[in-house]
Amino acid sequence: MIYRLSIFFQDETWLIVVFVGLLFAIAACEYLLHHAANSRREEVSSIGLTPSDCWGRDFKIAPKRISWGAFDPKTGDIFLSLSIISLKNIVSSAFSAHELSHDEQWKENKIPMNICSYKYTSTFCLMLFPAIFFYLHFIIGNLAIDALGFVLVVLLCVIWLFILWKEFDASFRRAIPAMLSRGFRQEEVNDAKHLLATAFATYILTFGVILTFAGLLAQFVRAFLVP
Ligand SMILES: [Zn+2]
Repeated sequence: MIYRLSIFFQDETWLIVVFVGLLFAIAACEYLLHHAANSRREEVSSIGLTPSDCWGRDFKIAPKRISWGAFDPKTGDIFLSLSIISLKNIVSSAFSAHELSHDEQWKENKIPMNICSYKYTSTFCLMLFPAIFFYLHFIIGNLAIDALGFVLVVLLCVIWLFILWKEFDASFRRAIPAMLSRGFRQEEVNDAKHLLATAFATYILTFGVILTFAGLLAQFVRAFLVP
């Protein structure tokens, strides 16, 4: 089964093209977000408040590796990057509303949010499993190993689809309505929607990068490791 799945990954030329294309697309999204943040530094939204004053919550300065914001379910802390934490514009309002939504999701439903905090572990496994099982298919070649490999890959894909759903829910089903009810103008909310859609696109593209990278790993195994 995993072998049949890996037929999908057979031609390394198009895999490399798609992989590099996805990386460029992620870079383009990040550029757009940084450009929006930099060009609006001096702007003040119709609410005219920093994230803390706007939402009545304390935001901590995020460590450098976090590009926009993060929510830590272990401590309940919400982080925003230094570049937006003290601004009063639509960029800081949109990203702070998004991170607040993660806090809300956590309070409503702890178990799925816990799964999401293993995002990096599951991503690492998701990239390795196709290659490992592709290898085992050739070495052992038994159906149980193929089936187990298939189930694990599907399980890890499900985790990533859940992560995508969680991000979609935070941005478009919680943050945007919260901004409307807080009194931001419709044009500003539309702007915020564009920003959050660009940020959401990076998640979808990352999932694509993981899948194609897994395919490339499987190709590597086939070319160099399978006797
Ligand atoms: Zn998020």
